[in-house]
Amino acid sequence: DARHGTILSLEDINVSFDGFKALTNLSLYIGVGELRCIIGPNGAGKTTMMDVITGKTRPDSGSAWFGDTLDLTRMSEVEIAQAGIGRKFQKPTVFEALSVFENLELAQKTDKSVWASLGARLSGEQRDRIDEVFDTIRLGQSRHRPAGLLSHGQKQFLEIGMLLMQAPQLLLLDEPVAGMTDAETEFTAELFKSLARKHSLMVVEHDMGFVETIADHVTVLHQGQVLAEGSLAQVQADERVIEVYLGR
Ligand code: ADP
Repeated sequence: DARHGTILSLEDINVSFDGFKALTNLSLYIGVGELRCIIGPNGAGKTTMMDVITGKTRPDSGSAWFGDTLDLTRMSEVEIAQAGIGRKFQKPTVFEALSVFENLELAQKTDKSVWASLGARLSGEQRDRIDEVFDTIRLGQSRHRPAGLLSHGQKQFLEIGMLLMQAPQLLLLDEPVAGMTDAETEFTAELFKSLARKHSLMVVEHDMGFVETIADHVTVLHQGQVLAEGSLAQVQADERVIEVYLGR
């Protein structure tokens, strides 16, 4: 059973910007196969935490481990991505002029430059992988459409598909359902629950309805620290969380 152990361990992370503490002794653990939601008001440190995990920001102190062996604080952004951490920013960034299929083709792990690999003969295995991702993101009907013609939600699904082409172990997703229709949000919930069987997911989200649908475990960040952790019902009943959200 691969579903044991810890995929991500952040311990006593400190990050400051010109004396302003964005993260203060932040500790957080994500289990293998977990679907974790991160909530917290603006400025809580959510983005900074993802920047630390992906190597964009070096912490001043503390440790960040991927699995048991990879020290993220000593790896470059590229090394971290190649090791199996995929990040999706809030806005979709797909290649609009290319077809949906070509977008997935470009996103494959390859030794060649991405542009050299576009249009090159795909192996059977590569085609199977693309088909598998098409099944997952349900864009098979649109495979030959220019990605620029997709709806906002479909672009989000395509970008998730592009991440999946890299077979990441841990996916970081920033406000994935922002701007989606209800039907797209519903599909995203289904998609994330099914992905969590094979991958671990960390989802930053403000939409509490969505959080309630997907997460069994929620972490609340506030002022660069973990304020509360538990089920959504537990953290929503927490006095300190209520105070932060309602400003009492
Ligand atoms: P969140 O994603 O939860 O809204 P952020 O991680 O973006 O929070 O920001 C945490 C705090 O750190 C904020 O007060 C923000 O203004 C500050 N901050 C983030 N990045 C920088 C930076 N590069 N320089 C200065 N301050 C920053």
